[in-house]
Amino acid sequence: MKLLLFILAIVSAAAQAQQRPLYQTTKVEGTDGVYIFRYGNHQAMFVVTKAGVIATDPIAYGRPEAAVTYIEEIKKVSDQPIKYLIYSHHHYDHIAGGKPFKDAGARIIAHKRAKERLEQVKDPFTPLPDETFEKNRTLKLGGTVLELTYLGLNHSDSNLVMRLPKEKLVFIVDTIPVGSMPGRGMIDFYPLEAEQFMQRVLKMDWQRLIPGHPGQPADRLGTKKDVEEQLAFLRDASEEVKAAARAGKCWDAAEKEVKLEKYQNWPGYQNNLQFVVRRYCGLWGRGT
Ligand SMILES: [Zn+2]
Repeated sequence: MKLLLFILAIVSAAAQAQQRPLYQTTKVEGTDGVYIFRYGNHQAMFVVTKAGVIATDPIAYGRPEAAVTYIEEIKKVSDQPIKYLIYSHHHYDHIAGGKPFKDAGARIIAHKRAKERLEQVKDPFTPLPDETFEKNRTLKLGGTVLELTYLGLNHSDSNLVMRLPKEKLVFIVDTIPVGSMPGRGMIDFYPLEAEQFMQRVLKMDWQRLIPGHPGQPADRLGTKKDVEEQLAFLRDASEEVKAAARAGKCWDAAEKEVKLEKYQNWPGYQNNLQFVVRRYCGLWGRGT
């Protein structure tokens, strides 16, 4: 029976994926001009103001047409120029392919370490930031305030928290998945610092969180409860792998044996757990 239910769940997830349009633009409920642009399984926030548009993450890695579509979607809801493009962090699946934004006149802003990384990549389709900062940068445009804050190492060394204080919204990419397991990548994840990061995010004033991948289920936005759950998950994973590391099980045995069954209903559990364990083996299995 369990197996049958599992198969049914897979079939229905596959059917849903097929029905889903390739891209979608959604206005965030209760806001004047905050939108989510989703393309495939990635998403970015953009904010329409009276004096121009603030866009984030081009999400065009390996698919330059996504950035073109993104700009077309912005044009459907605003005739204002795109003034800014903010990179959430340096990972390519979120910020590659921003050239059409630069060509449209957007000023690109990112954390300074995102620029250092991109300088090494030298991709002509992924322009370097025009401006970087280390800790805080507040944008004010057409009556909208967007705070960009670096709260320390977390999912990478360049992830920002983007906060709209009036709307009580935050846009946080990759560090805090909504209702699902952390992704498979993240080789430059900082486990202990990520816990501190989440605690700092919890102390900020906001009500809804827009993630960089659609929230589960039904593309929902996150709340502080989701942050608490992810923090609990990291702590549980950390403790389990620490014990496995002491028993000499990092890397291979730990990756096979550590289960964290409490979270087995989270989408991504089957595919991604091994990578979570690998990250913590990288921490506890190396004697740190
Ligand atoms: Zn990332």
